[in-house]
Amino acid sequence: MSFPIPDNEAERLAELHALDILNSPPSAVLDGVCVLARKMFNLPSACIGLVDRDRQWFKANSGFGQVEGTSRAHSFSAWTLMDNEMLVVPDARDDPRFRDNIYVVGDPHIRFYIGSPIALRPGLNIGSLCLFGPEPRELAPDEREIVLHLTQIIVDQFRLHEATRRTKRELEHRRTSQSLLEMQSRELWRRQTLLAQTERLAKVGGWELDVATRRLSWSDGVYRIYGLPPTSEPTEELALAHFPLEARRHFRRKFVHALRTGEAFEIELPFVNAQGQHRLIRQSCELEIEDGVPARAFGIMQDVTERKQAEQRMWHMANHDALTDLPNRGLMRDKLDIALRRARRSGGYVGVLLVDLDQFKDVNDTLGHDAGDALLIEVARRLMASVSELDTVARLGGDEFIVLLSRMENADDGMIVAQRILAALSLPFEYRRTSLSCRGSIGVTVAPDHGTDPSTLLKNADIALYRAKSAGRGIAVAYDPRMQKATENRVQLAARVRLGLKNGEFQPFYQPKVSLSTGAIVGFEALLRWRHPRRGVLGPQDFSAIFEDPHLSVEMGERLLQLTTRDMAQWTALGCDYGHVAINVSSPEFAHGELPERVLTALDLAGLGTERLTIEVTETVFLGRGTEMVRQSLQILNQAGIRIALDDFGTGFASLSHLKQFPVDRIKIDRSFVHDIEHDIDDAAIVRAVINLGQSLGIETVAEGVETFSQASYLRANGCDYAQGFLYSKALPASRVPALLKGWSPELASYGAPGPLDALM
Ligand code: C2E
Ligand code: CA
Ligand code: CA
Repeated sequence: MSFPIPDNEAERLAELHALDILNSPPSAVLDGVCVLARKMFNLPSACIGLVDRDRQWFKANSGFGQVEGTSRAHSFSAWTLMDNEMLVVPDARDDPRFRDNIYVVGDPHIRFYIGSPIALRPGLNIGSLCLFGPEPRELAPDEREIVLHLTQIIVDQFRLHEATRRTKRELEHRRTSQSLLEMQSRELWRRQTLLAQTERLAKVGGWELDVATRRLSWSDGVYRIYGLPPTSEPTEELALAHFPLEARRHFRRKFVHALRTGEAFEIELPFVNAQGQHRLIRQSCELEIEDGVPARAFGIMQDVTERKQAEQRMWHMANHDALTDLPNRGLMRDKLDIALRRARRSGGYVGVLLVDLDQFKDVNDTLGHDAGDALLIEVARRLMASVSELDTVARLGGDEFIVLLSRMENADDGMIVAQRILAALSLPFEYRRTSLSCRGSIGVTVAPDHGTDPSTLLKNADIALYRAKSAGRGIAVAYDPRMQKATENRVQLAARVRLGLKNGEFQPFYQPKVSLSTGAIVGFEALLRWRHPRRGVLGPQDFSAIFEDPHLSVEMGERLLQLTTRDMAQWTALGCDYGHVAINVSSPEFAHGELPERVLTALDLAGLGTERLTIEVTETVFLGRGTEMVRQSLQILNQAGIRIALDDFGTGFASLSHLKQFPVDRIKIDRSFVHDIEHDIDDAAIVRAVINLGQSLGIETVAEGVETFSQASYLRANGCDYAQGFLYSKALPASRVPALLKGWSPELASYGAPGPLDALM
């Protein structure tokens, strides 16, 4: 394997070797930069690689095993060197330069890679900051900026290393060279200017103290840091006077200790320069021992104020959410940890409130991301205003927030604060002169009652939140250990259903849909059944929880679609005219916008026209998350010729606006209205209103749950188009559909005695 060589390779290597950094001991700051970089980019590995003639040596390495380096031929850095721009590889498998690289083909299976060249002087790239991970991805513009910041810190550190070495050499030189002539030699002048430049850049200076005579000398850099003219004679008193009292004492203690033991030290101290500006200084000190006693002390002084600020900014960025500036998940966990430890020591309770906004997605989808952002910022403000300064509000991402009540006196305080938050959230929210509402649901857990470690508390808060949302949203629910049982049941059911899916235990059954005017079967509804090996044939009431599970419901929907289209193709082959088949689709199936593609492909594979299929949805799919996605998916399906039926009409949040907003061809009147249609005047009025509404909008109406002949007559008399129900037939396995169709008598279905089909079942 070969690697590219830059034009200035010789100069570049000279620069690297002059720096004398290869094989140097680890640096806490540079290791820290790598850890920080990994954390900020959520990547498994970050390294600082220096590229020597044939190898790459890691000055710092976080996450890339125990390796000291790699061969140059296998290093990505060899390529980063070639350009002064950052190297970004979204997917190494697609890049001919790296496709066959051993670190791509084998461990750590690099896909995404960022290399940022490191140069102390323009164009002389000595190595690179490398960040990589096993998932392909892109680099966002603001991320690029962070990489540049991190690279700058590394360069600063290298400069400091360089300046330290030069200053040391310089001071030695001054000591040995007595002759003025020599002092003025061109060579020295050149080196001094270089030193001065570096000093200025890195804000460092060197000093030296003759221990016996107490004579102190400063380089220009030190004068600059003190803000004093280079003419003044430095003294120990003057040098120390610029440190605040406490720092001065600390420095002196360290120094005395060093004189006694000969040990070098390095400390950071607050400092006030001659202009009265407060700065942060890093002081290092080493001793030169002659005949067993310290003869000279010399050290490096660096103004690290800006770097410290930059590091703090970095830390802040890594630990806070960019939009709301609230602490993020990582920082929240740290704070929770601290609060729990405190509570263990000194008693009291810690509350964890998990807050989820109910209609955030709607705001985002209908009014755009700016509105969504404004809403999140306002919510953050209201949450902060609802708690005390000791408490923490954090954003976990999306529309989820967490409130930590770190010092509660009573276990009930959690619910009290939760109610206060709900009240604050329920106030209308103004955006560009429209008033929006965005309520929240809250799950509450309290330590130590519901758990004593962060993971348990967060998990239980999630369980309580789930309860709050399924109980109608807009409320707060406190965790109760019994909920755990319900969750376990859900988890067990999901596992059993998964197994059932694998074993082919799920099947659609078909219930006919009858025209009320002719009595003919116009189509079927596919209803899911589980042939449970022990419990027999089960209906959805025994496993309906899975329709809310994002993964399982999609898997189930896919399977049902396959089986239904297969059955339809088979009936066609048998020459059966079954009309159309309606399938029920649950909310999570719309989540990724893949539904239309999936449905159309399934029809295509089975050789079926789109007019053969109807999709039934309940109004809840219009209300939850991703409304815009649902609308688009239904639009695509509808334009392709698939009918859309609105299921369980009248039971939920029926809103006429949905009929306009979404392409609805059919309304299904819920069976709870049909049941009492002859006795309950309200139900009868609702049913008549729905039928009229359908007629005026050109939407067909289907009555569900028709069990008696008189219900059918009433519906027919009031203009309802179709009916489904036990009066005609229960849902049957696919194999019985051809016989049902063959033996069907429209007259009997319209006018005959109740249960005309019992004979068939
Ligand atoms: P749905 O879509 O409203 O389905 C109609 C339900 O009413 C079916 O219950 C059906 O067996 C029942 N039914 C039909 N005629 C009568 C009648 O005359 N009287 C009475 N009392 N009930 C009648 P099932 O099969 O238990 O389904 C319940 C719900 O489960 C369905 O309500 C639907 O929301 C959901 N579901 C069923 N299959 C699927 C599926 O494949 N996917 C999804 N996502 N949901 C499904
Ligand atoms: Ca249905
Ligand atoms: Ca229904």
